[in-house]
Amino acid sequence: MSRSISSKLPDVGTTIFTVMSQLAHDTGAINLSQGFPSFEPPEGLTDRITYHLTHGANQYAPMPGIPALREAIAEKTQRSHGRSVDVDTEITVCTGATEGLFSAIQAVVHAGDEVIVLDPAYDSYEPAITLAGGITRHVPLQIAANGHDFGIDWQCLKDTINANTRLIIVNFPHNPTGAIMSAADLEQLAEIVRDTNCLLLSDEVYEHIVFDGEPHRSLLSHDELWERTLVVASFGKTFHATGWKLGYCITPAPLTVEFRKVHQFTTFAVSTPMQHGVADFLVSDPDFYADLPAFYQQKRDHFCGLLEGSRFRFKPTPSTFFQILDYGEISDDKDLALAKQWTREIGVASIPLSVFCETPFTGKRLRFCFAKDDATLEEAARRLCVL
Ligand code: PMP
Ligand code: GLN
Repeated sequence: MSRSISSKLPDVGTTIFTVMSQLAHDTGAINLSQGFPSFEPPEGLTDRITYHLTHGANQYAPMPGIPALREAIAEKTQRSHGRSVDVDTEITVCTGATEGLFSAIQAVVHAGDEVIVLDPAYDSYEPAITLAGGITRHVPLQIAANGHDFGIDWQCLKDTINANTRLIIVNFPHNPTGAIMSAADLEQLAEIVRDTNCLLLSDEVYEHIVFDGEPHRSLLSHDELWERTLVVASFGKTFHATGWKLGYCITPAPLTVEFRKVHQFTTFAVSTPMQHGVADFLVSDPDFYADLPAFYQQKRDHFCGLLEGSRFRFKPTPSTFFQILDYGEISDDKDLALAKQWTREIGVASIPLSVFCETPFTGKRLRFCFAKDDATLEEAARRLCVL
């Protein structure tokens, strides 16, 4: 018997990351599309996880996360962002940032509420808003006169906020453009939301991958913003372990209460031995994440150096492990079609930017992941330089 299913997400297909990684796999292309490192997590960390796997840490963890991991996160938050957070009432460990973002959105968005996202916007935000009954409003980032730098269009953001705006989602360091927040940006944001009821959801999964000596300016570091913000982060990027799906949400106690009401029924608790292993490693090796900017800056510079003689236009990215390349001098084709064509014909897979935008203002740009070993980057660049 055939039944018609009324989709709750009629406009949603399969995520671009799955589409492009599958195409790279099927065609044998070098996969610089979906963002994941080609190298392993640190041995000191995997040793600790193995230890806990074999020493009895295999039953349910407490719903908010094991105390040792929440303590280690509180310590890291104090050191990295100068914010003292309460271990019991302000930190919740979740199943990757994806679950944190989803739970946060379900926790605070009511049917009919408006939620503002900044395009290009990471693709998990809008479906989560739709499932909460919310309405997504897209505010495009502004492209600077140099054609490379992206930043918030403050006037447009201000004009989009109204009495129905419940939440603004920000993501700095920004995937896919690499844009970061300046101190003035934090002040602007504080000023714009000051007389509103808007909450903020800050996706900071690339918090430890910022280059050229710049700090990451977390919303946690700002006294006024902190009071209305849910910050979501992930150990996937920080420990070269995107497959572990381990993240956390930090937010003031009243918001944590609401966050946990959803989290406990989305996932309940997160893998116990992983939490113990990460807690141990955060305490024993804080230098690991402190050294990440230098580690990835070397990768960025190597990749960009290899592309110097190509026909792509670009500016080395300020953050994340993604480099945007402007292909305007090479082709007039749309980015999605071209990303697929080059995966098949050149053997390098990338991510088109237009899929993250309501209106494709980003033009002829593709995103390439440089979290790869040097030999992979060199072969990919050799292929790209032929274009
Ligand atoms: N937000 C952004 C901006 C991301 O790039 C990613 C994926 N890397 C996530 C959220 C999801 O993180 P996780 O894999 O920890 O769920
Ligand atoms: N965040 C990763 C990226 O931007 C992909 C995560 C996923 O595949 N869902 O490439």
